[in-house]
Amino acid sequence: MADEQALDEVVRFTSDLIRIDTTNRGGGDCRERPAAEYAAEQLAGAGLEPVLLERTAGRTNVVARIEGSDPSADALLVHGHLDVVPARAEDWSVHPFSGEIRDGVVWGRGAVDMKNMDAMILAVVRGWARAGVRPRRDVVVAFTADEEDSARDGSGFLAGEHAALFEGCTEGVSESGAFTFHDGAGRQLYPIAAGERGTGWLKLTARGRAGHGSKVNKENAVTRLAAAITRIGEYEWPARLTPTVRAALTELALLYGIESDPDDVDGLLHKLGPAAKLVEATVRNSANPTMLEAGYKVNVIPGEAVAYVDGRHLFGVEDEFRATLDELTGPDVDWEFHHRSIALQAPLDSPTYAKMRAAVEEFAPEGHVVPYCMSGGTDAKEFSRLGITGYGFTPLKLPEGYDYQAMFHGVDERVPVEALHFGVRVLDRFLRTA
Ligand SMILES: [Zn+2]
Repeated sequence: MADEQALDEVVRFTSDLIRIDTTNRGGGDCRERPAAEYAAEQLAGAGLEPVLLERTAGRTNVVARIEGSDPSADALLVHGHLDVVPARAEDWSVHPFSGEIRDGVVWGRGAVDMKNMDAMILAVVRGWARAGVRPRRDVVVAFTADEEDSARDGSGFLAGEHAALFEGCTEGVSESGAFTFHDGAGRQLYPIAAGERGTGWLKLTARGRAGHGSKVNKENAVTRLAAAITRIGEYEWPARLTPTVRAALTELALLYGIESDPDDVDGLLHKLGPAAKLVEATVRNSANPTMLEAGYKVNVIPGEAVAYVDGRHLFGVEDEFRATLDELTGPDVDWEFHHRSIALQAPLDSPTYAKMRAAVEEFAPEGHVVPYCMSGGTDAKEFSRLGITGYGFTPLKLPEGYDYQAMFHGVDERVPVEALHFGVRVLDRFLRTA
């Protein structure tokens, strides 16, 4: 059981890590090193031997291994990223890098995504050192750089160049799972992530005939591009259920006593009410146009116009995603992947999932654990290259009215102290028994 000191430390570590500004502006503009050194210091204080690893100066990752008591057991990875997305101080109620603790709530960029989990991991393993606890499995702890951009300096680098550090790891846990989802009707759900959609960020290029803006031009690159992104933006993707999403829908339907036609996904979502939020973004692929670049003067038709689209695809249907985009872009517009990553699917009948579920149920007996699929992606994608199956498990007990999903990359990101205490207790129980 996590001790008092662990409960104090998780709050202090969250606040301290928020105060270390690790804003990732993309394109290599980030410096995680001070946060990595902070984490390494806490690990060393627990008698561990953390290694600091950099592909690029200042973009620091930290890895440490805690030896388990059962040498025949597979190792377990627990990881958290150290970088955060930008925050504009003028939009916030408190300074985003203050780490201020006010009325039992820790405020700041990273409070939820995901310096909270980094702090929980540190507090748990330090508690083990004090109590002389050894987990059953080897536990490999990794704090990564660059999750909020390409992962090239973070998990991608670790999986590619330092696989030996993860030897024996078969499963991993990290962000976005086991948080309280209030359904508005008094029920508390605890969704554990067992899958991620894949990312397909697309660059569309329309070419045409450049010329004077006053002349007839049927080969206008801007018009061609606009038509293509309108088709993409308005396209209604068909429902495609992965095993995790199907299980989530089945369990929710059972919990709510809803008779459902398995082929009428949208009808079921409608009947689920607020709980539909947990699954609605993952029953189909998606593609949203997000950026446009074209032209330099109002009376000049440019020869080329470019757009970017944030596409996401479900496990097992990437081919369909690509074929659909070929069709939607049409003959006048080329497209390529600007960035892409695979979709993930993790089993729900594994002992590890059962243990995550049991740990949540022990400390939140009123809660209902359900599986879900993440709509976006995490470092788990990179670690999957090492054969590591990823689950989203960052336990947080959250009060009603607290909009957890809005905290990710949102304004006034914050986390209740009570949520962190719950997280430490549940994570401790899970990691030591997993
Ligand atoms: Zn994150």
